[in-house]
Amino acid sequence: MTAQHDPAKTLIVGHWIDGAPLEPAGARCQDLVDPASGTRRGVVALADVSVVDEAVRSAAAAFPSWSSLPLSRRVPIMRRFRTALAEHTDELARIIAAEHGKMVDDAAGEIVRGLEVVDLACSAPTMLKGEYSDQVATGIDTYSLLQPVGVCAGITPFNFPAMVPLWMFPIAIACGNTFVLKPSERDPSASLLLARIAADAGLPPCVLNVLQGDEVAVNRLLDHPDVKAVSFVGSTAVACHVYERAAAAGKRVQALGGAKNHLVVLPDADIAQAADAVVSAAFGSAGQRCMAVSVVVAVGTAADRLVPEIRDRVAALRVGPASDPAAEMGPVITPQARDRVVSHIASGEAAGAVVVFDGRDTVVPGHDGGNFIGPTVLDGVRSGMDVYDTEVFGPLLGIVRVATLDDALELIAANAYGNGVSIFTRSGGAARRFVREVEAGMVGINVPIPVPVGFYSFGGWGDSLFGDTHVYGPEGFHFYTRSKVVTSRWTDETSGVDLAFPNG
Ligand code: NAD
Repeated sequence: MTAQHDPAKTLIVGHWIDGAPLEPAGARCQDLVDPASGTRRGVVALADVSVVDEAVRSAAAAFPSWSSLPLSRRVPIMRRFRTALAEHTDELARIIAAEHGKMVDDAAGEIVRGLEVVDLACSAPTMLKGEYSDQVATGIDTYSLLQPVGVCAGITPFNFPAMVPLWMFPIAIACGNTFVLKPSERDPSASLLLARIAADAGLPPCVLNVLQGDEVAVNRLLDHPDVKAVSFVGSTAVACHVYERAAAAGKRVQALGGAKNHLVVLPDADIAQAADAVVSAAFGSAGQRCMAVSVVVAVGTAADRLVPEIRDRVAALRVGPASDPAAEMGPVITPQARDRVVSHIASGEAAGAVVVFDGRDTVVPGHDGGNFIGPTVLDGVRSGMDVYDTEVFGPLLGIVRVATLDDALELIAANAYGNGVSIFTRSGGAARRFVREVEAGMVGINVPIPVPVGFYSFGGWGDSLFGDTHVYGPEGFHFYTRSKVVTSRWTDETSGVDLAFPNG
């Protein structure tokens, strides 16, 4: 719901522009609602075009000095940012838990994963080394440089309000770019603390700007001529829009979309280990992770042993608010998200799936207004059912039974998404074949759907990624730099006119 800015409300989350907070008077704003109670916590400003232009102007103005600052001075700032970020883990985690609804230790985990990327950003001197070839022709050498692209924009989703921004701006900035971050309007406060920590660590004003907003801000960033690169993470429909609009405006763009992650269990797997992984990865953060397991593919006789093990573990999960230290799974982000999950359960049931565990009637005492829905498991899910074909993004796990590993591979290949997959097996041969043949960007063996470590890159296939480049890791450095190849001749020998094509 959008409204006019009301200064009487307690919490007002504004922008961070020119190295300072900005709360424009009379701006459009949106209520910030606690997902665990349904109570209004405050408002978040929604940038209009003039505020976006201000943020881009700020970043563009900072680019010449920041990009020419030697790496030996940029990297110590990044190292101080890393130290300060680690020190603020608890504060950030509590802010995230309050706005997102996830558990505090889960929120702390996303900061640890973000720190990995800051570590990588600190290795910029190594990652940004060019190449040099001596004597490619007589008296001629060739070398390459990696140079920053300019103002980069990051548009991020609600489900990882610290980690996903940290996938982007530390590397972009370490490469010498300046950055405008547009976080999710549903949990915007973590982004402001990140900007403040970076400023306190010595990042010059204007190098990192934070813009709160909705599609008005996003579309202006996509069209703005001074934005040279766009990194997006969110749902597939918006990823597609961002990719097309930013590319049409001549920008480089990477747009990561939604997911439907399959975890395959072969009959020879350690079934208890597989069940632990499934339940952890399906219901952590109430299933609102891009790497959540949403489909278990039980091969052959695995299903009859696996389903009871999953059901027993799910039955033991404790649902509640982040303020309850005993709770393990929180609410979903909005009442609409809860309704969406409920309707997917109903449609799966109507299409013939069996409800093995039903979270629809879960009640959290004292939190009637919260967006709680308990963990739910559907068995007998099949391709073609709405609950299988679409991304649910909530605590709903579907189990698909297939006869062979071939069937599992075929099922995964036919799915529109290709973010992450995993296999549980004791067979090295089966695992190796799965790795080679599966149609997905990130693969796990005997682990839940894996988020690759910071020094590798993150990205899916199919409708899970539009663009050529994954985020962070070496591909992050590739995305945030342009290469320049120099051919040079330094010689005292005399020369003459020669119209033949140079050939050494
Ligand atoms: P979302 O697509 O609704 O929003 C993402 C961002 O886009 C937000 O900043 C939002 O303000 C903006 N936005 C929303 N609608 C827009 C529109 N019509 N035009 C322009 N901008 C718009 O996603 P969400 O609900 O915040 O996050 C959940 C989704 O993100 C899920 O689909 C999940 O799978 C996906 N996700 C993917 C990854 C990945 O790595 N592939 C990681 C995290 C989340």
